[in-house]
Amino acid sequence: MTARFAIVGSGPAGMYAADALLKLYEDCRIDVYERFPSPFGLIRFGVAPDHFKTRNTARQFWRTLELENVGYFGNVEVGRDVSLDELQEHYDAVILAVGAYNDRKLGIPGEDLKGVYGACAFVGWYNSHPDYRGLNPLLDGEGVAVIGIGNVALDVCRVLAKTPAEMVDSDIAAHAAEAIEAADYTGLHMFGRRGPNEAGFTPKELGEIRELERCQVIVDPAQLPGDVPDTFEAREKGVKEKNLKILNELAAQNKPDLPITMNLQFYASPKEILGGDRVEGIRLERTEVVDGRAVATGETFDIPVGAVVTAIGYHTVPPGDLDMNGGQVANENGFVKDNLYVVGWAKRGPTGTIPTNGPDSRDVADVISERVTASGKGGGEAVRALLAERNARIVSFPEWMKVAEAEIARATGGHPRERFPTVEEMLAVLDG
Ligand SMILES: Cc1cc2nc3c(=O)[nH]c(=O)nc-3n(C[C@H](O)[C@H](O)[C@H](O)COP(=O)(O)OP(=O)(O)OC[C@H]3O[C@@H](n4cnc5c(N)ncnc54)[C@H](O)[C@@H]3O)c2cc1C
Repeated sequence: MTARFAIVGSGPAGMYAADALLKLYEDCRIDVYERFPSPFGLIRFGVAPDHFKTRNTARQFWRTLELENVGYFGNVEVGRDVSLDELQEHYDAVILAVGAYNDRKLGIPGEDLKGVYGACAFVGWYNSHPDYRGLNPLLDGEGVAVIGIGNVALDVCRVLAKTPAEMVDSDIAAHAAEAIEAADYTGLHMFGRRGPNEAGFTPKELGEIRELERCQVIVDPAQLPGDVPDTFEAREKGVKEKNLKILNELAAQNKPDLPITMNLQFYASPKEILGGDRVEGIRLERTEVVDGRAVATGETFDIPVGAVVTAIGYHTVPPGDLDMNGGQVANENGFVKDNLYVVGWAKRGPTGTIPTNGPDSRDVADVISERVTASGKGGGEAVRALLAERNARIVSFPEWMKVAEAEIARATGGHPRERFPTVEEMLAVLDG
């Protein structure tokens, strides 16, 4: 008998889980449900548009979706078009791989002012995420503050700093490229509560900001520690040492007369976002790091900016009433309850890179294989009938490939592709 699995979410975690289940079950059928016509989650909507090589990691997952015993239910949102309970009823097991693409709040005064954006929204805007097509961020002030010192914060600053020529190899959304080109800002500010040794960025992303054509990076040498303490394990220490070397190079760089400056400020914690109707500035408080934690000193300073982007973490919103553990779905080694499992960022939180999801999803697939056997449930055919009754427009994988080809065909100005920024435009390729 064929074991039937539903995977909710086609990001890396869901796709690694599909690969693992295909290896563990001789006879199985896997259906991947995805709320957008486009597959692969943050590989499409998170990874920076100028990191084309990273985006190509999706290629390995194309092959999975092309297999005969794997179905793609694109444009089907679980919780909207079909409920989690219905999936659990019709499949032997359901694996939630819905990610954690919802911004954490700063929790400071002024956070609701016009001009404050979470990184999910801001990154989604320049990455053609349909939910954020209409964001139209305010870029008319003299500066933009980015809160956070990880790779996402660096991505945001780099995309805002690059010239159109530097972005030509990217598939940045046309609406974002135009807005960035027309913008007035001259100061980009990246703030971290802790110091360089605690920063989450990695040498590759940090190194890229050395080369920006129209942007001088400013690092205060007085904020750079002499070395990386032995308290970090060897591999992490190596990464931190590379970071420190690059930060020292940036501190020594002298690229005067460039129209944009990017200030990397450590030991600065946001206290308040200032403004009347909209963002006019940000107030920060100096910190010291004590035992790895940021401790406020009471000394504050203000920076005039017209927009604030927060890149401080994400949480999961599951498609059903499930127990949560902080920002994630409560689980034990991936087991949630009954025949429901969870993988990826929805399981373990928003940390790690695309490949980090591989071993994690394989571990959960092992747990599933110890518990789940085929029981003759209706699977995708039963759900397809429900979706037909509800007039849902399922996008199959071959259909998605047509949309992907159309995105390449409509590219202009040397860009490799121009994505459709709304679901309607994607569906128009298929349905006219
Ligand atoms: C801005 C940003 C940039 C990043 N850049 C990099 C990078 O350059 N390199 C790197 O290695 N890692 C990067 N990462 C990390 C990487 O993207 C994550 O490790 C990875 O995407 C997590 O995989 P996931 O499958 O758990 O979640 P996701 O990739 O978020 O996938 C979740 C999927 O579930 C779908 N979904 C959600 N709810 C439903 C529902 N109710 N019904 C149906 N479908 C649903 C979503 O549409 C999405 O497709 C980045 C992360 C962010 C936030």
